[in-house]
Amino acid sequence: MTGQVAVVGSANIDLVVPVDHHPVPGETVLGGTLRRSPGGKGANQAVAAARAGQADTSFVAALGRDEHADILLRSLDDAGVRTDVVRRTDSPTGTALITVSADGENAIVVAPGANADLGAPEGEARDRVAQADVVLAQLEIPLDAVLGAARARRSGALLVLNAAPPAELTAEVWDAVDVLVVNEHEARALAGSEHDDARAAADDLTARVGTVVLTLGAAGCVVLQHDADPVTVAAPTVSAVDTTGAGDTFCGVLAAALAQGAGTVPAARRAVAAGALAVTRHGAQEAVPDAAAVTRLVR
Ligand code: ADP
Repeated sequence: MTGQVAVVGSANIDLVVPVDHHPVPGETVLGGTLRRSPGGKGANQAVAAARAGQADTSFVAALGRDEHADILLRSLDDAGVRTDVVRRTDSPTGTALITVSADGENAIVVAPGANADLGAPEGEARDRVAQADVVLAQLEIPLDAVLGAARARRSGALLVLNAAPPAELTAEVWDAVDVLVVNEHEARALAGSEHDDARAAADDLTARVGTVVLTLGAAGCVVLQHDADPVTVAAPTVSAVDTTGAGDTFCGVLAAALAQGAGTVPAARRAVAAGALAVTRHGAQEAVPDAAAVTRLVR
């Protein structure tokens, strides 16, 4: 069984420049060689669902009509993502301006561009969402797009929300979410300021969402469900070179496995393995492993 996933989300071109130090206001610094790479949480997760998760994956998104859109579409197509329902708008394709200092710290400015034009899916995009077994969304797009996708789902299809970056959710969105995926920072932000402990924060979130998956970096993840014992899935020990996109790989593979009928814990095992493989390579979409490598690591 293939399983169908509709990823409703953002696409950005990452413009990355290495610098000795980040410029302070008013300062100009000369950096190293510019690297342009396809990114954005939605596009990264779609690539992961298709390549590492082998799901029949459609990307519901908005891109501009520029060269950056072509780079993104090429990367999505190479991974086998269906891009025919991607909308093109007159805004520039979403862009992230990233400086990376010698000590490895990033400073990032995101210009959402076309991502901000994405609304509730219509026409063929809506039909595609309605066919999906799993709808996977993040929060780099307007909340209306997430809500519209949730409403367009067929009955029985799961809404997986990766609440990144964390934002205020409406009651209707909370009610629609079946599986919430958050890292430690996002769990604390969503649960409110009273929590220092991400695990306690995630536990609180199970009062609002049936299943919460808390990712824990090198420690893997924990699956929390209301009225059930939490299940921790340890990550294999790997030598991490770049954690960019690890969370996105995790989400894409989790959604793909759920669409193929896996239970939440087995799906989380594949997602943890895929996330661990992703940190052994540089980049975001370039670092997504293939399905065979994930399967070898899970066994
Ligand atoms: P995010 O990238 O959203 O901050 P995490 O840091 O929690 O999310 O990482 C997501 C997943 O990536 C983890 O659940 C794990 O599977 C994998 N991962 C991240 N960092 C490491 C690491 N150092 N070693 C092994 N796996 C990792």
